[in-house]
Amino acid sequence: MEKILSPFKNCSPRNFALDQDRLAMKSAVEHIHRQLGMSYRLGDGQSKPERENSIKYQASLNPSNKKEVVGFVEFGDEKDLETAISQCDQGRRSWGKTEAWERIQLVEALADWMQERRDILSAWMVFEVGKNWREADADTCEAIDFCRYYAREMASLSKPIRMQELAGETNDLLYFPRGVFAVIAPWNFPLAILTGMTVASLVAGNSVIIKPAEQSSVIGAFLAQGLKEVGFPKDSFYFLPGEGEKLGPLLVSDPRVDGICFTGSVEVGLSIIEGAAAKPKEGQRGVKKVIAEMGGKNALIVDEDADLDEAVAGSIHSAFGFQGQKCSALSRLIVHDRVYESFVSRFVAASKSLRTGPAWNPEFQVGPVVDDSSFRRIRRCIQDASSRLEVLYIGETDQDQGYFIPPAIFEVPDRSDTLFQNEVFGPVVAVHRVKSLDEAFEAVNSVRFALTGGIYSRSPSHISRARKEMEVGNLYINRSITGAIVGRQAFGGFKFSGVGSKAGGPDYLLQFLEPRLHTENTVRRGFAAEEA
Ligand code: NAD
Repeated sequence: MEKILSPFKNCSPRNFALDQDRLAMKSAVEHIHRQLGMSYRLGDGQSKPERENSIKYQASLNPSNKKEVVGFVEFGDEKDLETAISQCDQGRRSWGKTEAWERIQLVEALADWMQERRDILSAWMVFEVGKNWREADADTCEAIDFCRYYAREMASLSKPIRMQELAGETNDLLYFPRGVFAVIAPWNFPLAILTGMTVASLVAGNSVIIKPAEQSSVIGAFLAQGLKEVGFPKDSFYFLPGEGEKLGPLLVSDPRVDGICFTGSVEVGLSIIEGAAAKPKEGQRGVKKVIAEMGGKNALIVDEDADLDEAVAGSIHSAFGFQGQKCSALSRLIVHDRVYESFVSRFVAASKSLRTGPAWNPEFQVGPVVDDSSFRRIRRCIQDASSRLEVLYIGETDQDQGYFIPPAIFEVPDRSDTLFQNEVFGPVVAVHRVKSLDEAFEAVNSVRFALTGGIYSRSPSHISRARKEMEVGNLYINRSITGAIVGRQAFGGFKFSGVGSKAGGPDYLLQFLEPRLHTENTVRRGFAAEEA
């Protein structure tokens, strides 16, 4: 068979304005609503229709209706962790030796598997993490894109790179798998990020322990089911849901784990770097590779000549899409004094028009936050901010069956204020007035994060300064600052937002591979006969 892949093409999002797309999603949501309450085992994510009564099975709740159990997931203990690591350690030997083309085809098959059930997968996200239809669909598209993109990247990395020629000598640069990877994922892109990190590890020839976030373990189980159904060998992956605080430190520090691919909070990310990378253990094969994508405190500048219609729409979308729970979400609006009053009044008016309610119902633009602990933390943060800062708007809702928090907006004059400095991860925005562009850039760069940022401006010279002076991993000019697309907007930050190359970009896969150089002296007197 000819080893050729079609050129990379992004998965097209659904257009819910079209009857066909809207009705398909509606029926998927109704279908999944009838599937809630099943049980999912660890290892391969296999489901069974009834509730499993073992105490190892933890309920995952619907944040739009906290009485509703989405599913019961088997959480791993130390014994399961040992099984996962020894199985993957065993598996790395054979999986790492498979032809790259075989792995590439399996990842392509996983993309097809997801594409065939895209609305179903999106509907699970509506119920398990409270994504609205559009956000859930984008998550599924991104997961499919990661598969297809990394498959193609691997196709080019699997060809040896012939280095400079010299008569009588060949020099080839080749990439080899690293061994066993631990993938530790957040809940906020429950399919896309988990899939991206997993398939990058697998297509590069590493075996993978897949640790989903507690809040999105049911969706994780579907990824494991997909891997199994398309034919990934049993010992190339192990699905290990469980409590991060318990399993995480044991997993990342085990000497048989060669690499850790983590996305989540800066606190956990730093603890992994400290605990896993810095302290080698007896029997460890080498220095562990740690890829850590962490938090953000993302800012958008509204310049004095900005198109305010565009700036309001882009800000609303960036700040309140998925309830401000995207790593790229806008949480600091830095507004030039000359347009401050007109912009802020319009931004607040637009925020008031948003309706908060269950994610499954497309009438509502703002859904729930993910769980009780987020709900309490964000509510505390809003209460605390209200006691210190000028409130520009705090929305209200009569919905109390889920973890609903409508948008909250505060004026923050002091850049050292905690609301300006620290990630909230909810629908809360700090608005800051500046008198000049210099002051705006200083404000943007005053935080320890450097993930996304943007500017609305009509001035070419201001835009050019923003390109040079804004310390952000992804800079967006005259558009919203969320929604990076695989292959177009490679995504990731620096400073305390991450160590690692950008996901969905050309450097990403290299992190999962070990480069080796082979030099051969080709001036020799014949060959020894091959053994029979
Ligand atoms: P989190 O750090 O609480 O959890 C992430 C994962 O780490 C989970 O699977 C969790 O179980 C596990 N974990 C918890 N404690 C651990 C420990 N001690 N050792 C090892 N693993 C442990 O983050 P979250 O609440 O799931 O996700 C939200 C955070 O993720 C936000 O800070 C957000 O900015 C960040 N995020 C960043 C990006 C990015 O690309 N930079 C993308 C998405 C989310």
